[in-house]
Amino acid sequence: MDYLLTETGRSDLGALLTVRSLYAFDFDGTLAKIVRDHHAARLARPIRFWLEELGKRAPTAVISGRSVGDLRSRVGTAASHLIGNHGSEGPHTRQEDMQQVRETSHGWLQWVNDRFRDELARSGVVVENKSYSLSFHYRTTDQRDKARALISRIVAELSPPPRIVLGKSVVNVMPPTASHKGTALLEYMRRLDCSAALYVGDDVTDEDVFALRDARILTVRIGKKKGSSARYFLKRQAEIAEVLRLLVEVGDQSIRTWSGCHEQGAAQPLQQPNE
Ligand SMILES: [Mg+2]
Repeated sequence: MDYLLTETGRSDLGALLTVRSLYAFDFDGTLAKIVRDHHAARLARPIRFWLEELGKRAPTAVISGRSVGDLRSRVGTAASHLIGNHGSEGPHTRQEDMQQVRETSHGWLQWVNDRFRDELARSGVVVENKSYSLSFHYRTTDQRDKARALISRIVAELSPPPRIVLGKSVVNVMPPTASHKGTALLEYMRRLDCSAALYVGDDVTDEDVFALRDARILTVRIGKKKGSSARYFLKRQAEIAEVLRLLVEVGDQSIRTWSGCHEQGAAQPLQQPNE
């Protein structure tokens, strides 16, 4: 894992600009700073600005654990594609598959509410219904060990057994048939006819993309971490603004250079009669 903002990293970013690439990002902890209140996460002004600028030049996507509706209220039109529920919610998934995933998730929610509503409330665990998955949040509780033990007990009893993805103070459970961030990114590359992609994320669910180890995808993790499959890392979340700015400005520069060469080339034939 190497630091992205070095000569090699910048040159790898630059290479993306020479082909049709998809620029995809996780939301919480990547485009938006992690905040104690899950509902307060938002895009900082420079990040929104550079993301919008990049989106005018190339396809961009946000692939998040949040629902598409939730993402839309935070990202708006700053990114061209919004993919929710860790990759399982979006126009790329088949209606029948989505329906099946929804039904499984809904069944789990009912069962959890019937049996554990009071116990969850006492432990300070908030269950978020994301239609296609459930998230057990324990960021705001003081009894973290107790909360985690309760969540483990519940999750172990879910039927069918879920795909479990641990996040920062959150346990996400997804129906086993749901697509993940890695499959979603590949599907979008195919749909948008992109031969390369950038993917930046900060959490365990993002390892589904990093672990593809697909040479066409430049993978970046927010924060260096042992055991991560990402190729590069950024030291801080705020550095994402610098990456977006670089992509926009370097991209524009190469277009200007190319236009310059083109004009020179066009001027040359005028000299030919003297040769
Ligand atoms: Mg994240």
